[in-house]
Amino acid sequence: MGCRVANELIEATIRFHGHMCPGLAVGIRAAEVALREVGRDGDEEIVAVVETDMCGVDAVQYLTGCTFGKGNLIHLDYGKNAFSFYRRSDGKSLRVVARPAILGDEVKTLAELHRKMNAEGLSEEEEGRWQAIRRKITDELMQKDIEELFDVKPVQGDPPARARILSSLPCDGCGEAVMETRLRVRDDRRLCAACFNLPPRGA
Ligand SMILES: [Zn+2]
Ligand SMILES: [Zn+2]
Repeated sequence: MGCRVANELIEATIRFHGHMCPGLAVGIRAAEVALREVGRDGDEEIVAVVETDMCGVDAVQYLTGCTFGKGNLIHLDYGKNAFSFYRRSDGKSLRVVARPAILGDEVKTLAELHRKMNAEGLSEEEEGRWQAIRRKITDELMQKDIEELFDVKPVQGDPPARARILSSLPCDGCGEAVMETRLRVRDDRRLCAACFNLPPRGA
């Protein structure tokens, strides 16, 4: 059974991201699992924790409605195609993890071509091959069964805390307003991260 996300939604997701690619397809399929299991976010009801910052996250954002600005899209910089979803109303949660071979064997050729592209550029023939392989991998990702693509595992730990409204205070260095939890103190001065990271005056 291929992807069950409605065609118009897939088209809209591609427009949001800018292009169709294997990474976006992985995200669309992961979001498909989320929509089936916990539904789409209304207002901070669903939380998505993504362990990658690659293309697929755009699909998760667009399709589940979890966004960075609402505070219910959380990035962990683990470099894994793994996506956890939590529903606050009943505590249902799941972690969707791409199987190691999710992109198939031809991904090795794709990686070689990619290296060459960055180093010296590709010939027209190689460029055509690169695009054909990407299209093939993407099509396969959209056509396979969810079970072939992902392991669905229990999540570890509780859902992340809700977004809070915090007050801001001016930084004693630059005077710009900073969320108070982000201020750091040095020599009795409350500093923003940028000022804190500057060498101390007179040093
Ligand atoms: Zn992409
Ligand atoms: Zn500052």
